[in-house]
Amino acid sequence: MEQSPLHKQLKQRLDSLAATGVEFLPSVSPVAFTAEPAPVTHSLFDDVPPATPAGDARQELAVLADEVRGCKKCVELFSTRTQTVFGVGPPDPEIVFVGEAPGADEDKQGEPFVGPAGQLLNRIITNAGMKREEIFICNVLKCRPPMNRKPNADECRNCRPYLDRQIELLNPKVILCLGGVAANNLLGNATGITKLRGNVYKYNGVPVVCTYHPSYILRLSRDPAAERKAKLECWDDIKLMLKQVGREVPKK
Ligand code: URA
Ligand code: SF4
Repeated sequence: MEQSPLHKQLKQRLDSLAATGVEFLPSVSPVAFTAEPAPVTHSLFDDVPPATPAGDARQELAVLADEVRGCKKCVELFSTRTQTVFGVGPPDPEIVFVGEAPGADEDKQGEPFVGPAGQLLNRIITNAGMKREEIFICNVLKCRPPMNRKPNADECRNCRPYLDRQIELLNPKVILCLGGVAANNLLGNATGITKLRGNVYKYNGVPVVCTYHPSYILRLSRDPAAERKAKLECWDDIKLMLKQVGREVPKK
């Protein structure tokens, strides 16, 4: 910063006083200096390169996970959960999966999609040529609703800021909504998943693809034709999702 003549004069005067051994000056009213620019201070970190965005996100996600861990916004869920299920994955993923809410297994283990739905999800991931570790997986709700009931509107509203912040920090290239609860919450509509799937939407500029919840596909096992149809449609959605990140679509 350019120093004013008065500033330079003052500095010379102070330097020469210091040279003669003067270490302290009596304090003066700050009013006398209000017309002067603030002295240039050099931060201790001026020559330290800024942390990488991924490093920043990792740290901020850890702070957010801590906040979620202490959350008591939904009284029923807070008092019945074993633990919160924040989500898992890298801090800089290309792809984020958003499910509904933790189930019994997730509540026990603290990780999303580790139960039967998770097993099917793992197969979908592998078939698509992806690795689970490269995807950030989370849910709309971070706490298990008792008896695996559907999340209610208040709970979704309470938990929404955590999901929004998560996605902001993760900054993915595409989001895959698993099931209607995730899709309706993220996109702010009430359209059925059968209608929503097959298209690309936007959430804060990020492309969003919606598909069936793996639990829904599992429930169709009593009806093989319906199960097959849902799996084929899910596969189309996965291909649409891969296209958004410019990935090769495996032949199936
Ligand atoms: N179903 C979900 O929606 N999320 C999970 O984490 C597990 C089952
Ligand atoms: Fe908090 Fe979300 Fe759990 Fe509700 S569901 S208590 S908002 S962390």
